[in-house]
Amino acid sequence: MSSKILDVFLKENLEDLKQKGLYNTIDPLESPNGPIITINGRNLVNLSSNNYLGLATDERLKEAAIAGVKKYGTGAGAVRTINGTLKIHLELEEKLAAFKKTEAAIAYQSGFNCNMAAISAVMDKNDAILSDELNHASIIDGCRLSRSKIIRFNHSDMEDLRARAKEAKESGQFNKIMVITDGVFSMDGDIAKLPEIVEIAEEFDLITYVDDAHGSGVLGDGAGTVKHFGLSDRIDFQIGTLSKAIGVVGGYVAGKQSLIDWLKVRSRPFLFSTSLTPADVAACIKAIEILTESTELNKKLWENADYLKVGLKKLGFNIGHSETPITPCIIGDEVKTQEFSKRLNDEGVYAKSIVFPTVPKGTGRVRNMPSAAHTTEMLDRALAVYEKVGKEMGLIG
Ligand SMILES: *Cc1c(COP(=O)(O)O)cnc(C)c1O
Repeated sequence: MSSKILDVFLKENLEDLKQKGLYNTIDPLESPNGPIITINGRNLVNLSSNNYLGLATDERLKEAAIAGVKKYGTGAGAVRTINGTLKIHLELEEKLAAFKKTEAAIAYQSGFNCNMAAISAVMDKNDAILSDELNHASIIDGCRLSRSKIIRFNHSDMEDLRARAKEAKESGQFNKIMVITDGVFSMDGDIAKLPEIVEIAEEFDLITYVDDAHGSGVLGDGAGTVKHFGLSDRIDFQIGTLSKAIGVVGGYVAGKQSLIDWLKVRSRPFLFSTSLTPADVAACIKAIEILTESTELNKKLWENADYLKVGLKKLGFNIGHSETPITPCIIGDEVKTQEFSKRLNDEGVYAKSIVFPTVPKGTGRVRNMPSAAHTTEMLDRALAVYEKVGKEMGLIG
């Protein structure tokens, strides 16, 4: 017999979410997650994936993955430290370090896992972590796992960061203090103020940690936000994901050799969870090779992003202050935002609504993620739908 307490808990909480309109239903795709996706037999222009460069469906990556399976099989068979380290895992890590211009890199099973792994391998209960209030959920969980004192600072507010860093340092309570930030914030597309963060870090002797999940493949000719600012030798931890622009799955930390050596003996997902599959690793290696050889996809991504932004702005939409291809279309009211997204879907555009509590109340938006794989024709089609629905709903003139 199943637990009654659990049954009551689930029933009450599921109903509560449904009543508040916060219960998320999931639309399964009947196609690859490319620029056009098929849902319920309908083809939609896809403006919701993190597949920035279109690599998730790239033929070169698919072939590399197949070759990886043929040579090494489907699973790595063990955790990295037993005998789950294949030669291609090391090859991927060398390529990542070269791409990031760091001494070394270590690969994990996901970006989420990286944050579970890296923070608590270095920080403990005698330490403090200064964390931007808009940091990603995996950073928040990673910080909690470390049992360090978590000190949140106002989003990208350098005066607040400085004041809190000073207070933490002068309190003398902490052995180590770290500052953690997303490189690119995924809701508004704004970039962390890394040059100022590095200055504050150097003044107060902070360890620096940048999770560049949305910056890698996008900024700095693809090498990320740290390279964008020319700070490659002044950031201790550079986290990246292999699941967004790289188009596969996985994550990595790039940094000094001694840091990577330490993570290889102390980070728990590396020690206790089976390593990335051969197909994933082989595809990731191919992706990094493609990005190292040419900036063509990166250029195309930015061209498409500019095209979409200019188009939406011309129509009269509020697209916020994004500095990256992430293009929010801010509607405001939560119910209206959800209705807008649904109407776009009816007309052939897949762009998800994001509302409170993910973003502040009254700033509901439909978030658009253009990619290098979109054609001008697809973007024009999306813009025509935006115009039609926007006018019908009285959101634009
Ligand atoms: C998406 C994201 C992650 C998670 O990466 P996965 O590889 O999908 O697990 C971690 N951190 C940030 C900032 C992200 O945006």
